[in-house]
Amino acid sequence: MKFVTNKLQKSDNPDTRLVDPFGREMNYLRLAVTSRCNLRCLYCMPAEGIPLNNRDSILQFEEMERLIQIFIELGVNKLRITGGEPFVRKGLLGFLKRVNKFEEINSINITTNALFFGDIISDLEQLKIGSLNISLDSLQKDKFFKITRRDEFGIVIENIDKAIKSTIPVKLNMVVLAGINDDEILSFARIAKDNLIEVRFIEQMPFSGGPDTESIISADHIIDILQRQYPLLYEQSLPNSTARIFHNPGYKGVIGIIAGYSRTFCSSCTRLRITPEGMLKTCLYDRGAVNLKEMLRSDKTDLQIMDAIIMAVQNRAKDGFESQERYSRNSNLSMAQIGG
Ligand code: SAM
Repeated sequence: MKFVTNKLQKSDNPDTRLVDPFGREMNYLRLAVTSRCNLRCLYCMPAEGIPLNNRDSILQFEEMERLIQIFIELGVNKLRITGGEPFVRKGLLGFLKRVNKFEEINSINITTNALFFGDIISDLEQLKIGSLNISLDSLQKDKFFKITRRDEFGIVIENIDKAIKSTIPVKLNMVVLAGINDDEILSFARIAKDNLIEVRFIEQMPFSGGPDTESIISADHIIDILQRQYPLLYEQSLPNSTARIFHNPGYKGVIGIIAGYSRTFCSSCTRLRITPEGMLKTCLYDRGAVNLKEMLRSDKTDLQIMDAIIMAVQNRAKDGFESQERYSRNSNLSMAQIGG
């Protein structure tokens, strides 16, 4: 691994902090380790999948580890591992164990479809996993098949059960799809009654072709459905969280709403993303600000890479609307290629 030791100490030099023009300090890095996935969710990927990357076109684990070191110097202390489906990447557990040793990283979160972690849940319990975010869009076997185009409902439910029984905090993510699973909103919310988990409803975003924007079910509409059923529902959201958090008296768990399409949380967003191909994105809706893979593979020093990252953050758009406007072309990319 190439790590140049003339690194700056972030505490010594305020210029190495990642502060955007709106005063938001980036401390959260979302790293997509693959764009491959073992499901074909109809809102995320075409039935035939997306073009496969060859091994060289995606970041190697050593490269990701070098980048994590660099981002730590720049103030990042929280990681999310995503994809594609992260657990389809060979060697992921070893990578997670190595990343776990970075003292400055307080929590490693993982977003997954729950198909592959059943046998390694006790290994995951040894790591500082802040949350395991599990995607599940239906509680009905047939509908699960219709949405994911794969007959894997049984194993997913079994593994979700294992995760809930483990010591790892679990968030269950449901993308609300008009006319497909919106009739299950209350069934999903009820999971939070007896389980100490966060059940989260996500607005569908117009990636991968997406639906026309009029048929997207808005966060406000979802909240309205919940409030009608649970009149005592009250909000207690955390700063810098993408999710608005609601409590229902008597429920062990909580309900989260993520307005990914309405983009009401941009003003407090402190997240950066790295795509499987090593592109740094300062917003989900942007085109990519720095080709980190190219820099890593072309003898650039850590300081040069840091400078490029700092400049990208200094040029960060105000919100997802401005990003989209600047780069108006993202709508055909799958979230698996961006890192969901
Ligand atoms: N394979 C993992 C999983 O299933 O969670 C991680 C990657 S997946 C792309 C991450 C998240 O993005 C999932 O919760 C998925 O439902 C969500 N997602 C994908 N496409 C989306 C879209 N068009 N709108 C909203 N959420 C989307």
